[in-house]
Amino acid sequence: MDEKKCMCGSSDVRVVACSGASNVGQIANQAAIQLANEKVAGFFCLAGVGGHIKGMVKSAKEAGLMIAIDGCPVQCAAKTLQHAEIEPAVQIIVTELGIEKSPDFAPDEKACTRVVEKVKEELAA
Ligand code: SF4
Repeated sequence: MDEKKCMCGSSDVRVVACSGASNVGQIANQAAIQLANEKVAGFFCLAGVGGHIKGMVKSAKEAGLMIAIDGCPVQCAAKTLQHAEIEPAVQIIVTELGIEKSPDFAPDEKACTRVVEKVKEELAA
């Protein structure tokens, strides 16, 4: 596969998640998957942007609208985009939705739904 092309998510609206090593990082990841499954946004590979893969940075820059979902206020996803000079139009921080950060990776469907709803609210605003 050509490493310069990302086939993940072909939508003009794209979402990246921090996918961090905590419950909230994984909730961010699950929310991005749900948004992709619902065809709200194409799930885009944040690691490709962080890895400075030229074609992927270009694709991310060409997105009509970029959504960044971060687990906590460290905002690794949004900052990774910003380092590549990509400003997310929608920024969600899971802990700001009243979900406490912990090292527990157990899936939390309710929290994931809350994040997805918040993204949809922001897109509709
Ligand atoms: S934003 Fe928070 S949860 Fe996500 S990768 Fe960074 S430190 Fe981890």
